[in-house]
Amino acid sequence: MVAQQLRRRGIRDPRVLEVMGSMPREVFVPGLPASVAYDDRALPIDSGQTISQPYMVARMSELLEIQPGDRILEVGTGSGYQAAVLATLGARVTSIERHADLAESARERLAGLGGEGSASIDVRVGDGSLGEPEGAPWDGIVVTAGAPSIPDALREQLAVGARLVIPVGPREQQELMVVERSGPNDWGEWSDGACVFVPLVGEAGWSDIER
Ligand code: SAM
Repeated sequence: MVAQQLRRRGIRDPRVLEVMGSMPREVFVPGLPASVAYDDRALPIDSGQTISQPYMVARMSELLEIQPGDRILEVGTGSGYQAAVLATLGARVTSIERHADLAESARERLAGLGGEGSASIDVRVGDGSLGEPEGAPWDGIVVTAGAPSIPDALREQLAVGARLVIPVGPREQQELMVVERSGPNDWGEWSDGACVFVPLVGEAGWSDIER
């Protein structure tokens, strides 16, 4: 997976490559054989949701440029895999999931995984489309579901110098947008390329649809 899906497609951060190589992805997709867990695609999890494709997890993690101790907000816990990768990179992660059952199983899975990483992940239930203002400013925000536009609330919750990584666009296909706060009133943004995510459902996302 690391050689063929990540290095070959341009993931360069050695720490990200190391963590992706050591994280047991099969733990996050119970019921699927380990051989399938490392496939080059998103895979189904409960509640009609998905665990993101390995490349996407690696790329989003790389774009966040995590430093040890950074406080990172993740919107869309899903299986907990991305949160585990971020925490193993040294981040303290607050992760919000709108499906209570997914949040609960992610919590249990992360606790079972043990290690320093899982101790620094706080999984919460709710609509994360407006971020988590009480914890702001964040050293990075990653949204793992596709939004119709970039929520202003998320830009405002970035620390100066921090990045927001978020898929933005129509439900069928999005652009992976990177927003960097360069000053109190300055933000730059660019696209890192096309991607496909399940929808961000919430106040600053899509209206509630059965997914
Ligand atoms: N990061 C996850 C992982 O590593 O398994 C993948 C997440 S999946 C692609 C997207 C997740 O976002 C789904 O679990 C979905 O329920 C969640 N989601 C969608 N809208 C949300 C919202 N407004 N707040 C919190 N979670 C949301």
